Amino acid sequence: MEFYHELQKYPWDEVEAWIESRTASHVETAVGTQPMQLENFLSLLSPAAEPFLEEMAQCSHRLTEQRFGKVINLFAPLYLSNVCTNRCAYCGFNADNPVARLTLTPEQVETEAKFIHEMGFRHLLLVSGDSPHIVTMEYLHAVLEKLRPLFASISIEIFPLDGGAYCKLIEHGVDGLTVFQETYHEDRYRDFHLSGKKRDFRWRLGTPERGGDAGFRRLGMGALLGLCNWRVEGFFLGLHARYLLRTFWKSHVSISFPRLRPAAGAYVPPSPVSDANMVQLLTALRLFLPDAGMVLSTRESPVFRDHLVPLGVTSMSAGSRTEPGGYAHDSDAEPQFEVADERPPRVVAEMIRSKGYDTVWKDWDPAFLHYSKAG
Ligand code: SF4
Repeated sequence: MEFYHELQKYPWDEVEAWIESRTASHVETAVGTQPMQLENFLSLLSPAAEPFLEEMAQCSHRLTEQRFGKVINLFAPLYLSNVCTNRCAYCGFNADNPVARLTLTPEQVETEAKFIHEMGFRHLLLVSGDSPHIVTMEYLHAVLEKLRPLFASISIEIFPLDGGAYCKLIEHGVDGLTVFQETYHEDRYRDFHLSGKKRDFRWRLGTPERGGDAGFRRLGMGALLGLCNWRVEGFFLGLHARYLLRTFWKSHVSISFPRLRPAAGAYVPPSPVSDANMVQLLTALRLFLPDAGMVLSTRESPVFRDHLVPLGVTSMSAGSRTEPGGYAHDSDAEPQFEVADERPPRVVAEMIRSKGYDTVWKDWDPAFLHYSKAG
């Protein structure tokens, strides 16, 4: 069964009402319950859980340490192109925004990649606007030729593709797929995605499933925090992640927490999410899904990122540039969003170690595939 059908069993307004109806006693029961049912998860997302943040944080810390140890993976994004045919109301790359556009040549990508490699990264996330006429399969294959010798793990966060294209990308060395649903509210989704292929809610929602079927080893997901009620969004995010974990049990599923940041077009988030809300969401998801990875980007401030390290995070980006060509040179191209944590990767790594955690720059090598096939 497609996740789209699962989603339809839970009308948005009913979920919102269930969450609002939770009481302190529901929350007390939920915090100590493992494994956790959906009903408990709803309680942890509720306003009634706000006085229990400390307890939730302690449980989240404990569960994360049991499942993952005291390690934080580090990765860097590399923006290939900010050309985009879509009109997402919240994004600086929106086709309507008169900003400087750039698509890197495979040679320019290699220059950027060497810079990122020099900083110590071996996990790379390739990002692009929705421009399939420019970021073609041939282009991606040429880029991957250049990148494979430098990185142990390459993930993509580009426009959704079909299963056949994903199989080809896996053959060319991509092992991870990240796609954010932005919002699980199907009607509001159309309000935010004004035109372009991205307007197709169901095509986007089915992307992690197409990726899982194709065999990606890592599946990344998330909702754009600030578009709709984060409590309900969090419920659907947890439901979706649980579905992926159960269906694609060989893949590692991780959840990102992109919170809307200032971008070209001066978009004001309609449903702002506070720091305390973010902590509640992250810890509730950890208690509901102890095996899911939790990813934190440089959208968040240094102080907040430092605070979240022991609370359930398993992976962080660092030193990020969100404009194509921004690592090796000062690029004139428009960034997707303003980075809040501008510290160099080595400073972020020192901060992580100062909290008693190891930094992991590489936890995988394509050679493992040959061993597992031979076994
Ligand atoms: S969010 Fe993605 S698809 Fe939408 S305008 Fe930005 S780059 Fe394009």
